[in-house]
Amino acid sequence: MPCTVVVGAQWGDEGKGKIVDALAANADIVARYQGGPNAGHSVMRDGRTIVLHVVPSGVLHPGKRCLIGNGVVVNLAALRDEVTRLDALGLEVTHRIGISPAAHLILPYHRAVEAAAESGPGAIGTTGRGIGFAYRDKAARVGLRVGDLDDPQEFAAAADRNLERMRREFPEASELVGMSGELVLRELAECAEWVKPRVCDVSADIAQALSAGQRVLLEGAQGTLLDLDHGTYPYVTSSAASAAGAPLGVGIGPRAVDRVIGVTKAYCTRVGNGPFPSEMPEAEAARLRDAGEEYGATTGRPRRCGWLDLVALRYAARVNGLDALIVTKLDVLDDFDEIRVAVGYERFGRRVEEFPSGARALAPCRPKWKTFRGWKSQTGAARRWLDLPERAREYLEWIERECGVPIESVSVGAEREAAVARA
Ligand code: GDP
Repeated sequence: MPCTVVVGAQWGDEGKGKIVDALAANADIVARYQGGPNAGHSVMRDGRTIVLHVVPSGVLHPGKRCLIGNGVVVNLAALRDEVTRLDALGLEVTHRIGISPAAHLILPYHRAVEAAAESGPGAIGTTGRGIGFAYRDKAARVGLRVGDLDDPQEFAAAADRNLERMRREFPEASELVGMSGELVLRELAECAEWVKPRVCDVSADIAQALSAGQRVLLEGAQGTLLDLDHGTYPYVTSSAASAAGAPLGVGIGPRAVDRVIGVTKAYCTRVGNGPFPSEMPEAEAARLRDAGEEYGATTGRPRRCGWLDLVALRYAARVNGLDALIVTKLDVLDDFDEIRVAVGYERFGRRVEEFPSGARALAPCRPKWKTFRGWKSQTGAARRWLDLPERAREYLEWIERECGVPIESVSVGAEREAAVARA
């Protein structure tokens, strides 16, 4: 398929990094369409874990073009460090990465005000990297973009105007004292030089590649339930994480997308605050967290753990128009006697058929469970469908039936080859 979107079908951390890495073998370009350096895709290569923050997960394949679209917000210093780190691994990323001039910059004042906002009531549980505030400036039409670095004078003046506004709004943000547009620019100077040769017209490059018959993979960060519009608002990320954000975030038309693949774990996790109907009691969650190593790749934060939520997964199938599902981390459930799935919700004694949009409507929802007997055998070595234990296959076949979306493959370990295609 010439243009495929890979989207998280849950609250992020579904293992998209591994999946994009695998699919990138057959792609010419891999492009990130939204999010910032809060995402942490981990990809295993030769027994080593490589953590990626903004660089697309196709980067482990030599020679593939890796693009960062207009929908992404970038911290240039962090991007340069990431690229340097990958170059040091022999991946030669510097010469094959491209970034849209329309991508917005995360600046020091965004981090300062986010720290202030998150220490007060109504904290979202963000990663504290200034991402939400960079997107806020974008929506307010006062953001500074990669392309704006071409005019340093105007850049510094605009940063000063933003700083003035932020000081008024967040008088408690002490880091803003002494910050100026000039200083922000000076701090950025080296990175600005570094990024210049990497700036490219992502939209035009992808369009050209597609018309030349090349294959493009559009990689999302976070997941559908953290989408700014369709997630559990306000406990969401500040960008369009769902599949519709993909063409928007790289500058192509929606009809250029041929295929949408949703990635879901065989269970569920969430980071940050907000409702999570299928969450487990902590004793059970601790066991799953250890089995699945459910700690944030960027922050090290322990993830909240729960069972698969079918209501949410059906919603993700609808909102993204999923053509296929890839189920990850099946192996993590190998030792569980019972596996539960939330198959419906009840709110104030009434059945809720559809996943409610927004945290306020979701919070009172109580799950109705279906229980499966665990397969209690190791799936990590399975490479063909029939290698999987019968009960695991039944579980997966039931998921695809209930969602109405075919499973394309199942991941049974972090390594690239630990995967089973659906027979
Ligand atoms: P992403 O943000 O969606 O890419 O997900 P993360 O990288 O944060 O989390 C996925 C983690 O699970 C990474 O450490 C992967 O190496 C690991 N992983 C991916 N697929 C599997 C799998 O099938 N089984 C196991 N045990 N680990 C996996």
